[in-house]
Amino acid sequence: MKKGFVNSIGFKLIVLLVVIFTTLISASFIFNSQIDKLKVQIDNIYFGNFIPMLKLQNVVNNYRDLIFCIKKREFNCSIKTHEKAIIKNWKYYNTGYKTETERMVVDSINDEINKSLEVKRLKNLYAAISKVDFLITYETDEAEKQRKKFLHKYTQMKNYLLYNMIAIIVFSFAIILYIFLQIFKKDNQLTILNKQYKIDSITDGMTKLYNRTYFDNLFDNLPFISNANKWQCAFIMFDIDFFKQYNDTYGHDMGDKTLIAVADVLKKYFNKEYEYVFRLGGEEFGVLLFDTNKEILEHCLQDINNKIVDLQIEHKTSEALNVVTISIGAIIYLPNSYVSANKLYKIADENLYKSKHSGRNKYTL
Ligand code: GH3
Ligand code: MG
Ligand code: MG
Repeated sequence: MKKGFVNSIGFKLIVLLVVIFTTLISASFIFNSQIDKLKVQIDNIYFGNFIPMLKLQNVVNNYRDLIFCIKKREFNCSIKTHEKAIIKNWKYYNTGYKTETERMVVDSINDEINKSLEVKRLKNLYAAISKVDFLITYETDEAEKQRKKFLHKYTQMKNYLLYNMIAIIVFSFAIILYIFLQIFKKDNQLTILNKQYKIDSITDGMTKLYNRTYFDNLFDNLPFISNANKWQCAFIMFDIDFFKQYNDTYGHDMGDKTLIAVADVLKKYFNKEYEYVFRLGGEEFGVLLFDTNKEILEHCLQDINNKIVDLQIEHKTSEALNVVTISIGAIIYLPNSYVSANKLYKIADENLYKSKHSGRNKYTL
């Protein structure tokens, strides 16, 4: 079996179903066997003691009637009927299930009864009555003992069923909990991966600034955002001066380091809400500022030119200064001025061109 399937949620659900199914089937068997035992116990009490007692009582009553018939011969009563009734009731009692000790007692009384019916002497008949009376007392005691035993067993069974039910519930709950935790964990991992993917898809790998794709998205919406919020918004383009020469002089790796250093300055400077810094491509960067104005913007642009010079990254082949510098082209969009994003980009680019051609390390707004 493939590892992926074993770890899959589908597999776990199948396991869960099998476990629940097996648990329910075993639970049904356990319940059934316990209920059967209970039935046997109840049967013992009602049919094992109650009916035999009735039969014994019938035997005694018929003995009394038989004695009455014998004593008063002139009375119109049938000795035979009572004798038959005694035999029938005694037979029913005698053939029922008896324990070993019971059997011994009952057998001795059985002889006594047979003899009494054979000779039909009053002495023997009275003796038989007293024996059967004794049996009635004996059976009553027995019934009481069995009832006690039954109650004990009944409590045991009830507890047994209760513990079984608790075990089944706890077991099923644990498995369900485990599966839910697994699902939750997977879901969490997916959410994290998803978030990571979303971040990656809008981030430039080298500088960790927002990438060109994200810029295009946001920049296209700049006029609408500005109009809707009545904000003045700015778009700034940055381009490192004589960067080709820099690479030629210091190597591509140093070029990368410088790109990252410039990106860091921009990232740190424009780090407030509604300020976005992008790598537009190569050694070009862009910044979008929402809710700004001309004074703030000019101050920022001058600051940035100075901060890049302050990095003091040597650039001896630059025709601007002997350190790395940048040129800037910027534009402000006034709310409801209805200039398209394309046009804005073009103007910013033209401004950058102006900065380049008026000596570099400058800004044009
Ligand atoms: P200008 O002052 O007019 O902007 O001159 P420039 O040399 O900076 O402009 P140009 O467009 O001629 O050259 C840009 C250079 O930037 C060329 C390219 O090798 C370099 N560049 C672009 N992307 C990267 C990069 O990821 N790493 C490095 N090291 N260099 C890059
Ligand atoms: Mg360029
Ligand atoms: Mg350049």
